[in-house]
Amino acid sequence: MEDSFSPYFYFLDRELYCEKTPIKKIAKKFGTPVYIYSKKAILDKIKEYKKAFKDYPTLICYAAKANSNLSILKIFQEEGLGLDIVSGGELYRGLKAGFSPEKIVYAGVGKTDRELMDAINAGILSFNVESLMELDVLDQLSEKAGKKANISIRVNPDVNPKTHPYISTGLKKSKFGIDMEDALKAYEIASKKKNLNIVGIHCHIGSQIMDVSPYKEAVEKVVQLVFKLKKEGIELKHIDIGGGLGIKYRPEDRPPHPEELAKVVIPYVKETGLQLLIEPGRSLVGESGALVSQVLFLKDKGDKHFIIIDSGMNDLLRPAVYQAYHHILPVEKKNEKVTADIVGPICETGDFFALDREIDNLKRGDYLAVMSAGAYGFSMSSNYNTRPRAAEVLVDGENFYLIRERESYDYILQPEINEKIQGEVK
Ligand code: PLP
Repeated sequence: MEDSFSPYFYFLDRELYCEKTPIKKIAKKFGTPVYIYSKKAILDKIKEYKKAFKDYPTLICYAAKANSNLSILKIFQEEGLGLDIVSGGELYRGLKAGFSPEKIVYAGVGKTDRELMDAINAGILSFNVESLMELDVLDQLSEKAGKKANISIRVNPDVNPKTHPYISTGLKKSKFGIDMEDALKAYEIASKKKNLNIVGIHCHIGSQIMDVSPYKEAVEKVVQLVFKLKKEGIELKHIDIGGGLGIKYRPEDRPPHPEELAKVVIPYVKETGLQLLIEPGRSLVGESGALVSQVLFLKDKGDKHFIIIDSGMNDLLRPAVYQAYHHILPVEKKNEKVTADIVGPICETGDFFALDREIDNLKRGDYLAVMSAGAYGFSMSSNYNTRPRAAEVLVDGENFYLIRERESYDYILQPEINEKIQGEVK
């Protein structure tokens, strides 16, 4: 092993491997852009989380939004995890992947009637309710369904997770949850609803959190509220502290270990005796994945060197929306380095993967890997510019499997040209 970004992606004889598979082999077989995931990286992360929380009754609910490929979901399901969802589509995927509804929690500020009804009928572990109006609607729909819905109130603890503003969700000014000072009232209202069953309390403060102290602040506030509720006769079964642990995007990043999270959270939750729920997404899958692309063209403009690749912001949106850094590695090392902007083919200046980055002197046809792309990569991808979404491949040692085929043009156009279409084009 010459050097490595992680134990799962490393160079051997100047060639980049995922586990025991040369990445070039996968790129040649399935074409590019292609998302490549290491199964071992995912399994090892699950182990880390299980070990960190083993001394306290904890249900780890994987946040499906990070990467919702069915084969990836199945790994978590087989490992006995629960699932955190934010839409009817994720409920549908979760059930297809075999998750038991009793292990599914559902957050989101804007759940439609159909989404609520589907989850009521499934009988999920908890609706993480984000407004008083949602409580009302959920009660009415449960009555219609002849069922009781389990609920937690998502509280907004007003703590700063010290991450990118677009992924800070626990600040008072954000749209998420119900403010702490209004939460008691919300629980009182919920306790009077005939068709609701109060089971817990929920919060989620943000994502890509690199220091666990905001969790301490949040859980302290949540636990105080749990005791206040108890005094009012409102008993809960669980405390759900959401997800958010950060991952390594830059080689020098040292994200917190799940043990550190457990250490700050468990002592508080223990005082209540309630079950703990956590909802990690990014930290379970992020570092397991790379987006592999091929160099299309090189171009020099003034003193700038551009490497134009066949992936775009439609494949990986994070640099464009969060100015996020992703480490980029050549799939085969070169002897020379250049400083370049690595950009996609899309008609937007925001369509870049790296700016002024020192990288191996790649030529037309060479492959490169955008690292730490396993979370919020494919799941945030789109068909912008009528670009088929990438293939996805799961690597297991020296074996690798296609887990989502590359989309075709026909697949993209099908909803516009099928027999239901009533307009001009048939
Ligand atoms: N839970 C909720 C309610 C979320 O909104 C999110 C992410 O947005 C997560 C869990 C997962 O967060 P992360 O991927 O940072 O662990």
